[in-house]
Amino acid sequence: MPRREDEGESLAAAYRDETSRTVRRRLLVTMACFLFFVGIAVALEPRFHPERGTTLRDNFVLELFVCAVGLALSGPRRLWPWSTVIAPLVCAGLALLMLRYNVLVHGQAERCAMFQVSLLSGVFVLLPWGWPSQLTVAVASIAGFAAAASHLAASDALIYPALSLVTGGVTTVLGAFFLDRYRYDAFVRTALLSRASEQQQAEAEIAAALADIGHVLNAHLGQPDMLEQVNRLAVACLGCDWSATLLWDDRRQTFRVHAVADGRNPEWHLQLAQLELGWESMPLMRVVRQHELIEVPDTTCDALVPAEVMRRLNVTSGICTPIVRRGDTIGILAHGHGRSARRGPWSAKQRRLALGIANATAIALENARLIDDLQGASRLKSEFVATMSHELRTPLNVITGYADLLAEGTFGVLSPDLGDTIARIRQSAFELLDLVNATLDLGRLEAGREAVDVGPVDVQEVCAEVDRELETLVQPDVTLRWLVAPAARDVVTDRMKVKTIVKNLVGNALKFTTNGSVEVRAAVEAGRLTLAVRDTGIGIAPADLPVIFEMFRQVDSSSTRRFGGVGLGLHIVKRLLDLLGGTITVQSTPRVGSLFSVSLPVAERPAARGSRLAS
Ligand code: ADP
Repeated sequence: MPRREDEGESLAAAYRDETSRTVRRRLLVTMACFLFFVGIAVALEPRFHPERGTTLRDNFVLELFVCAVGLALSGPRRLWPWSTVIAPLVCAGLALLMLRYNVLVHGQAERCAMFQVSLLSGVFVLLPWGWPSQLTVAVASIAGFAAAASHLAASDALIYPALSLVTGGVTTVLGAFFLDRYRYDAFVRTALLSRASEQQQAEAEIAAALADIGHVLNAHLGQPDMLEQVNRLAVACLGCDWSATLLWDDRRQTFRVHAVADGRNPEWHLQLAQLELGWESMPLMRVVRQHELIEVPDTTCDALVPAEVMRRLNVTSGICTPIVRRGDTIGILAHGHGRSARRGPWSAKQRRLALGIANATAIALENARLIDDLQGASRLKSEFVATMSHELRTPLNVITGYADLLAEGTFGVLSPDLGDTIARIRQSAFELLDLVNATLDLGRLEAGREAVDVGPVDVQEVCAEVDRELETLVQPDVTLRWLVAPAARDVVTDRMKVKTIVKNLVGNALKFTTNGSVEVRAAVEAGRLTLAVRDTGIGIAPADLPVIFEMFRQVDSSSTRRFGGVGLGLHIVKRLLDLLGGTITVQSTPRVGSLFSVSLPVAERPAARGSRLAS
């Protein structure tokens, strides 16, 4: 950030430059005006004063000479800054020559003063040179007039022309002072305004570039090419030749290059990949911990990076920013020139961008680490749930096995009360087993371990199995009908998954239907197996339809709900269909019933074509 005084000084210097340039250009105009109007006077003078001919000519030649000197001095570039000195000297010379002529011809003092005042006003208007220059000409003019006064004729007291000349001199000097102040203020305002708009534009560019970086980091978060993408964008927005990310290697206790963006040959990348930078490897590494940004402007600055290293890596200048996570430097972003002729120093905009990129990268690396941790924790959880469910299944199988034996009377005839109690134990044990199986299925799906195992499937047989397993769920006032087309008796798909889908859908239909019917239709159409499960149960409100396929979502999840379940069945159906490339849709009307329609691609076996329904 430049200091206020420095800024004031630089503005004043710029103003002086601008004034010199204007005065140099305007001096030419002033001299042209002078010669033009004096030329008219020279042309008129012989008509009224023929005797002044030679003096008139000589004086005009001298005036031409002074103008020529002014012109010559305005040419060379090194004299341009001196314009505010040259111009008043030229004008003072012309004022004195005008006085000289009047002295030589014993001219009228009033006329002489009038021409001097005209000259002073003319230069004041044409030359924005400030009061010191105006004062130089005014002093020359007044002093010259005072010296010439005794040689001039006067129709009245000399004091009057002298007074008018002094008035002209003082007012034009004051005018030059005020005009100069006004011009300076306007100059500063314009400069500040254009500087502010430049700054605004730079800010907008920085914000856009950082937004791009954020976008790229988000899009590639946690992916192996994330850092390379950042380096690529850094090269583009910093306008440098290369950009590299070094990350701290805990095992080797050094920084190593993880990603590079650069259009150079692979050997250069190889060279960088070998690089191992410990904290003590070079002075740069010692300062990188204490500074947010370190600049190596060129190869002559070997206090940070040895010139030999810069030469070997073909780097001409660089800018480094540490990547800091909770106070620890976990990496370094380095950008630089090397291929092109460009060098440092780096602009304020480049420095801001480099800092912004380092901050965004630090956040992205932290997020990537968190995601990694979360994924690890989720994997652990899935493994735990899978193991637990597996372990729960064994004792549950024992419970249901013994309950079956008891119900069958293997251990003696049961009284009606005992029979009823055993039936309840059996029912609850089976529900629990279903839940454990669903959890296991979900665990496998979550872990991505669920593979598709295709083979010939007889959907009729699958339905018969499900029918047997769900027998106990069919309520007295409900009829369960199976209508399977012959074509569905021999298709190629994943049997276990199709069975789970059918079982979950029919299980739900039976659970939510207290009277009426549940009808299952299976058919094969255009290479797809279609399953339709229609019931006359409680139905689902339209507002609940979009959420029923989500995990643990139940329309009625209150503790007083009438129906059991945990909200996994439909989610598992959806996930299995995703694996098989199938779809599921639902139509439902509260208190009327629901229709779940499934469609999944199957390979139909030629021998089993037909469309008759078998029940
Ligand atoms: P749940 O174990 O609760 O049955 P599901 O994922 O199978 O879990 O179903 C989610 C919710 O969708 C159920 O709680 C129920 O509210 C609703 N639902 C599913 N099938 C039917 C159906 N045939 N009739 C009415 N509601 C249903």
